[in-house]
Amino acid sequence: MKYDYMVVGAGLYGAVFAHEAVKKGKKVLVIDKRDHIGGNIYTEETDGINVHKYGAHIFHTSDKKIWDYVNEFAEFNNYINSPVAVYKDELYNLPFNMNTFSRMWNIKTPQEAKDIIAAQIKDLNITEPKNLEEQALSLVGRDVYEKLIKGYTEKQWERDCKDLPAFIIKRLPLRFTYDNNYFNDRYQGIPIGGYTRIIEKLLEGSEVRLGEDFFDFREKGALSDGFKPEYDKILFTGMIDMYFDFCYGALEYRSVRFETEKLDVENYQGSAIVNYTDRDVPYTRIIEHKHFEFGTQPVTIISREYSSEWHPGIEPYYPVNDDKNSDLYEKYKELADKEEGVYFGGRLGSYKYYDMDKDIAAALELCNEVL
Ligand code: UDP
Repeated sequence: MKYDYMVVGAGLYGAVFAHEAVKKGKKVLVIDKRDHIGGNIYTEETDGINVHKYGAHIFHTSDKKIWDYVNEFAEFNNYINSPVAVYKDELYNLPFNMNTFSRMWNIKTPQEAKDIIAAQIKDLNITEPKNLEEQALSLVGRDVYEKLIKGYTEKQWERDCKDLPAFIIKRLPLRFTYDNNYFNDRYQGIPIGGYTRIIEKLLEGSEVRLGEDFFDFREKGALSDGFKPEYDKILFTGMIDMYFDFCYGALEYRSVRFETEKLDVENYQGSAIVNYTDRDVPYTRIIEHKHFEFGTQPVTIISREYSSEWHPGIEPYYPVNDDKNSDLYEKYKELADKEEGVYFGGRLGSYKYYDMDKDIAAALELCNEVL
């Protein structure tokens, strides 16, 4: 059996590539070391609730082409992400908007909020924010930074806010209107029936082998049942540094662990996502999965999310795009560009903090270039 492509990783990037390749008449083999498809967007139904097994995924984009593309594979509901943040015994709306400021300072107007923020940062003289702390302070002032950003960010990244890149906090909108929509994007929603179905559809026409570790395959030249596939090219969506045997040293990744519980209550927290921004609460957030799909089940499923540094044996989730790792990635990228017949992509293969829409856009770009 001869394949045109071996796709390593059945996540979103790999599945989009596989789909486009099959559309072009290519033969594609997809392998994944896990026993399910979908990578970290995998959802699994329990008690009628689609559980986001690897954390909350909310699809949002401003790119009409990408929105139309995903809508070929699923119907999306009208979920709007509007998480809340709990700091000690206080509760605030996210993202940072007039509801947040009004609760924080007991004020009503945008001008009052802007004046307070300006007063809190006037002595700092930040012109060009160099790191996450400076970026956050210059946008929202000291109170919001101390209560809603500092603790959460240090738990999430286990790094000082001064050592993290500014762009991470710019993911969150800041607005002086009473609007709790976490995203500014034109299109947003959750696929009805879960994300796994999208991946299933994308992988139609490809041969999919689960429970297959690429590195075992590379060592032995055969899959676990002894099958020796021949292929022209590889798309690798795993960790780029692992592909090159960590030859320049390991890139850093953050991982996440979930404690998931079924509760005999209909509605536990009234929101799909509640962030715990206080340093002393060990988890970063609690997800109540049913609220992504306006679930009416008599029970609920919640996941407490704990953040940790990645180490071998657990799943990587987030690249740490600070200067040190970015420099190291560039060295691996040079090797990757020279690697004949192998493409690298996805969050791990390109070491980028991609949202799903950007991940799909990047996959389609590669398809345009090579298919
Ligand atoms: N963040 C924060 N407080 C919050 C939510 C987010 O300080 O209540 C910061 C934190 O540094 C986080 C970043 O904003 O890493 C990006 O948040 P986002 O919700 O986009 O993260 P993701 O959902 O990708 O984990």
